[in-house]
Amino acid sequence: MALIPNKYRYHALVHAPVWLICLALLWPVSLEPEVLEADQATPRIVDYQKHLPRSFKKRRRKSTRFVVLHSTESGLRSALRTLSRRGHSNYLVARNGTIYRILNKQYRSHHAGLSMWNGLRDISSHSIGIELVGYHNDPFTASQYESLKWLIEVMQRVYKIPDHHVLEHYRVAYGRPNQWVKRPHRGRKKDPGVFNFSRARAGLDSKDPRNSILYDPDVRAGRLIPDPDIDIARVRLVDRGRYDAEVAQLSENVITRRNSAWRIARGEYNEATTVYRFPNGTVMRGNQIRNWDRIPVGTVVFLNRDRTEDVKSVTATVPVIEQGTTAFDIAGPAYKRSDTYYIFPRGTIKHGRQVRRWSRIPPGTRVLVHYNAPVALNSAGLQAVKRNDTVFLVPRSEVVVAANVPDTSQLNSGTLVFTKK
Ligand SMILES: [Zn+2]
Repeated sequence: MALIPNKYRYHALVHAPVWLICLALLWPVSLEPEVLEADQATPRIVDYQKHLPRSFKKRRRKSTRFVVLHSTESGLRSALRTLSRRGHSNYLVARNGTIYRILNKQYRSHHAGLSMWNGLRDISSHSIGIELVGYHNDPFTASQYESLKWLIEVMQRVYKIPDHHVLEHYRVAYGRPNQWVKRPHRGRKKDPGVFNFSRARAGLDSKDPRNSILYDPDVRAGRLIPDPDIDIARVRLVDRGRYDAEVAQLSENVITRRNSAWRIARGEYNEATTVYRFPNGTVMRGNQIRNWDRIPVGTVVFLNRDRTEDVKSVTATVPVIEQGTTAFDIAGPAYKRSDTYYIFPRGTIKHGRQVRRWSRIPPGTRVLVHYNAPVALNSAGLQAVKRNDTVFLVPRSEVVVAANVPDTSQLNSGTLVFTKK
């Protein structure tokens, strides 16, 4: 009371209970005040809990022994939407380092699914979930690591969690036997990425052997069989060249003899959100596929396509002249116009008025009808690059529709951009 000037003292005393109630009301939305430190920059925290549906029931966890780290496998907007819908995380760390509080830290968020660590199951009931905006095979930003490190330290201090109890989702998730793996197994999940997420950059540098991603108490005890990616991670220690080659192969979302639907989509291979585009252009969702032995080599797998628009976008392709079809079949009377572009299989570009021998157009030539002349990626406006019907000609003559490029900032700088007129 010494801080209150005399003339207000009586007033403050009378209202003390009101003050206390106000404080109690403020408490749940305060920014982890018990652990703020002066020497460390506090990341921006956005309380996003008002976006949880009214029907969402907040429940306390059984215990808090772990922190589990995830990657959203989607952009910020879609992640905020899907995580808030069911309180599927406690925190979300955006690419710029902003932390979104999806669900207050004391409540159970359903983030780990079918999971086990050291014989303990249902890890969501014993852990805090933190999501990083990004993909399991795409590096996280420096700002993300900074904010994550801060957030992990806060959680470790509040709940007395050691480094080796801060675990990646792929390490705690397990899968039931399926078409490809006949026993309960690790590897149901890939996030936040065996070859991508750095424990050291997140401040998890304890020398305890249990702090290594190679440590798995359930595989050791024979309860589960190991994640195949962990085997590759071990290769790194003995043969760097072979390791790099194997990791490069894994980054492709195309089915080959060695890269099965399970290797690509893991536990989500047969879900509605996993979309398969067959070489003939047919598109199917994972839950529509019956015969997994018949998936043709060359099928492209798209993950996390939960909305119909997302599925439509994977079908977006540039028309191609095939054996037996002509330019007229695709472009109609516009085939000779200067705003109809032909991209030949080797990457040469001509417009309709530059083509001389129409009978000699090779199969595999792409046709863009009613497009502007191509410009270099760095001189194309962001607006144009983001339009779904924009087409990119990536070096080595690969043609892609913008709708199929989740992150245009990753495009090679030698890319040419065609925008629809
Ligand atoms: Zn996850």
